[in-house]
Amino acid sequence: MNRPDTPSPDTADLIARRRRVLGGAQLFYDTPVHLVRGEGVHVWDADGTRFLDCYNNVPHVGHCHPHVVEAISRQAATLNTHTRYLHEGVVRYGERLTATLGKDLSAMIMVCTGSEANDIALRMAEAATGGKRGIIVTDHTYHGNTTAVAALGSTNPSDTSNADHVRRVPAPDTYRGADADDFTAAVVAAIADLEATEYGFAALLLCPFFANEGFPDVAHGFLNGAVAATRAAGGLFIADEVQPGFGRLGDAFWGHTHLGVVPDVVTLGKPMGNGHPVAGVVTTTEILSAFRDGFRYFNTFGGNPVSAAAANAVLDVLEDEELPGQAADTGRYARACLEELAQRHAVIGDVRGTGLFFGVELTTDPAARTPATEYTLRVVEACRQRGILLNKNGIGYATLKVRPNLQFRRAHVDQLVDTLDQVFEATPL
Ligand code: PMP
Repeated sequence: MNRPDTPSPDTADLIARRRRVLGGAQLFYDTPVHLVRGEGVHVWDADGTRFLDCYNNVPHVGHCHPHVVEAISRQAATLNTHTRYLHEGVVRYGERLTATLGKDLSAMIMVCTGSEANDIALRMAEAATGGKRGIIVTDHTYHGNTTAVAALGSTNPSDTSNADHVRRVPAPDTYRGADADDFTAAVVAAIADLEATEYGFAALLLCPFFANEGFPDVAHGFLNGAVAATRAAGGLFIADEVQPGFGRLGDAFWGHTHLGVVPDVVTLGKPMGNGHPVAGVVTTTEILSAFRDGFRYFNTFGGNPVSAAAANAVLDVLEDEELPGQAADTGRYARACLEELAQRHAVIGDVRGTGLFFGVELTTDPAARTPATEYTLRVVEACRQRGILLNKNGIGYATLKVRPNLQFRRAHVDQLVDTLDQVFEATPL
């Protein structure tokens, strides 16, 4: 399939209406994709074209998974209310979720978005450190959209205006050589710098897969020094598991277990409710008490009965269908196929990833490792025209990012790799 990239009249009308009512909001692709249905790893647009969805991590156990749909519908037809009443669902979820984490990470708050989860994590760090507010993040990251967490982001320059209390360390870039000792040294320097300010040092906040940084292949143990330095300075290590969590990485259920570090706070979002807006924060009972004592926190929707039903159903499917094991197998196969593809296309500079979070960095010059930023955009568009949805990210925005839901199998890898092969053939640098 190679369809011309012109929208149907209905889709063109919807684009114009959307622009009028929602403004120039962030849509993917030159001509936005107008989706009307999803099932498993596939989505369909309004013209009936089927796409292989290689990108959406929100429908984690599969688009419209019947078990999750049924759980949400049943609970919505039984009871939904705010969170000031006792309900079994949220408690059961907290018990099940914390059982997947280390024994000290035994307390939970449920919220609605990853941004809210990180916002709470910042306040937990403030409460646990006696009012310190200095935060260390990487220099190519995104942790959400509230005022407090937008100030941490570095991928949108306008988000950095109110960030005197933020220090940014260089994001690791394994394609160009990333060293754990250098990373630790940067964190140690940032801690000293913050401690010399009125803010002090409260927390190191990282995605333990460096998802927005372009998911560099950092080795197990890469964060040991930085986390040890954080603890030695009395700060918290916050692991933002919004992207790598819930079994996506295959062999490890969490990004931080994949790297072999233990966080003080874990934040969760996107995949947790398979599309239902539910998110969470897990921490120790001590930190949760400090937070509860320090801030009078209430969340109307966080952990309501329907959200809890959705989140419980996602855990059911992960267990019943053994999806993390499938992710491990499919991910290993995908890497092998992409490494083979890299032998035939010099534009592929680097193959990386783990489980169902993998991709390739494209380069215009393999010797200089120059990011092929503009070319990568064209590849993303060309894949869409051949029925494959994926995206790009990374420091130079030249990394093709493949992060499908956990129903993705070897046959889907074959389709993806065959398409990439054709696209690289057909798209000159
Ligand atoms: N943390 C990370 C690492 C993210 O990538 C995102 C969203 N892309 C968020 C937090 C924010 O999540 P949400 O959009 O649900 O608020």
